[in-house]
Amino acid sequence: MTETATSPRINGTRLWDRLQAMADHGATVNGGCNRQALTDTDRAGRDLFLDWCREAGCTIRIDAIGNIFARRAGIDADAAPVLTGSHLDTQPTGGKYDGVYGVLAGLEVIETLNDGDIHTRHPLEVVVWTNEEGCRFDTAMMGSAVWSGGMPLADACALTDREDRNVGDELERIGYRGEEPAEPFPVHAAFELHIEQGPVLEAESLEIGVVTGVQHMSRHRVLINGVATHAGPTPMAMRRDPMMALATLLPALFALAAEQGPDARVTCGFVQARPGSSNTVPEQVELTVDIRHPELARYRALEAGLEAAVQDACARYQLDGRVSRFWEAPGVTFDPDCVGAVAAAVEALGYSHREMVSGAGHDACNLARVAPTSMIFIPCEGGISHNEAEAITPTQAEHGANVLLLAMLERAGVAA
Ligand SMILES: [Zn+2]
Repeated sequence: MTETATSPRINGTRLWDRLQAMADHGATVNGGCNRQALTDTDRAGRDLFLDWCREAGCTIRIDAIGNIFARRAGIDADAAPVLTGSHLDTQPTGGKYDGVYGVLAGLEVIETLNDGDIHTRHPLEVVVWTNEEGCRFDTAMMGSAVWSGGMPLADACALTDREDRNVGDELERIGYRGEEPAEPFPVHAAFELHIEQGPVLEAESLEIGVVTGVQHMSRHRVLINGVATHAGPTPMAMRRDPMMALATLLPALFALAAEQGPDARVTCGFVQARPGSSNTVPEQVELTVDIRHPELARYRALEAGLEAAVQDACARYQLDGRVSRFWEAPGVTFDPDCVGAVAAAVEALGYSHREMVSGAGHDACNLARVAPTSMIFIPCEGGISHNEAEAITPTQAEHGANVLLLAMLERAGVAA
């Protein structure tokens, strides 16, 4: 990296002030944010962002699903942009930083280059993806999915909220149904800077996560069928009780997770006995099992192990057990050049760091299908996110944005 590329630093005060100003739109009494997709508060947040982008001299494009692209021109008019960004929408009781931080840090990169009169060969572009959270309209990472070809525009526009208002009409109503086609254009490199939303960086006292990919994930429904009978007259040995199989199954599942190492995740977040009467042996137990692992072979071993554990537990009590997968998101391996640019930036800045795999899905997963992409994480307090208590420090925000700045400059090329 050249000296020119390593010398600029972002203005941490301006970034922090803007994070707080954005949080005023949808501010909750408990210090969080409720700025759900395509509401009036989302419109206000978008308008504020566009005001700042125009003041910074950016050219704005808005596509048919409401994704916003704010471009700072490069020296080479034909070069593909280096893209960064995330989302401005939040959960109903969300925090101030999930998504927003990545968007405003991208804008801060542009402001910093303006301040230093630094010009890049490739254009730089900050993107705001529509409806990342998928709470008001039930599809997470919707805008980036449409843009990257993973979801038809018409399907996204037809999604409705609980009041039966659809995405297309709401885009129109808030003035963000754009003219540009929602489809990929050439992108030279893309970065998404985000809070970790987990406890690892804080626990290890590290400043930056160099994210190399996103883990494989799937969700499964397990149904164990037995025979309902009176709780009194039937001796234990003569029952066909799905709860007994569950009592065998759960330790087997947690042992399976332990076998596949510290990166394995097995979560049983929903359990229900039917008919659900305290003096009846249940005829059916249903549970969901969420499985995650960054390595494909171990992820597959977890899936196969789940099936085997259910069959073993059921055979022991002569019960019928079924496993069905109802959701899967394949893992993503990020682009080595983008990951390398982040690693080089962290080294140049001297920040403590580690490589890591994202435990959650992000817009970058969709982007990675059509463009060289990677992510940068900063710690958040207690690993807490999707919560009004979500917190980061101004220093953490500043350091992450500096990494983004240098990684983008490395990919964009600094004009002499
Ligand atoms: Zn997010």
